[in-house]
Amino acid sequence: MSSNITVIRVCEHCGNDFTARTTVTRFCGDLCAKRNYKQRQKEKKISQSNKETESIKQNKVKFIKDVSNLEFLNPSDTAKLLQCSRVYVYKLLDSGKLSFIQLSEKKRLINRKSIDNYLLSLHKPIIKTEILQFEKPFDINNSLSMSEAQQYTGLSEKALYSAIKRNNIRKHQSGKYVFVEKVELDKLLTK
Ligand SMILES: [Zn+2]
Repeated sequence: MSSNITVIRVCEHCGNDFTARTTVTRFCGDLCAKRNYKQRQKEKKISQSNKETESIKQNKVKFIKDVSNLEFLNPSDTAKLLQCSRVYVYKLLDSGKLSFIQLSEKKRLINRKSIDNYLLSLHKPIIKTEILQFEKPFDINNSLSMSEAQQYTGLSEKALYSAIKRNNIRKHQSGKYVFVEKVELDKLLTK
């Protein structure tokens, strides 16, 4: 540390050898010291910005989690939960499709259960028709064999089979004949 000594050191900034008066001198001169300082400041700013970005991202995730765990949601929260616009939520409320609590003149709250019920109600028609289709017995009296079906639809054998497969039309085997219901073929023809 004495100023009487001279040592050869390597500049931390430019990497050149230089003669230093102390054993802890880090830079060859003022210029390298300044440049290195500036560089470190820049890196600090970048890392700070990255930290901020990271924390914003984490907060976002947190916020979505909070909305999904709320028991009562305002229209904005509901929009976030349903991933739709606030305008659409208001439409649902005004049309009576989604029930709400009128807390004050301007404040509406939506029970999470109402939202879940509304979503389930959207599911119901699909489930019902599926069940009905499976429950209804095959109507053999109003069915056509495959060759009759070909004539009826005007489709080739190949086209008919692929249309049956594509539309999940059920078939019924009776002896060596395969039947399809005429009503299903009518549906096919109107498509
Ligand atoms: Zn240097």
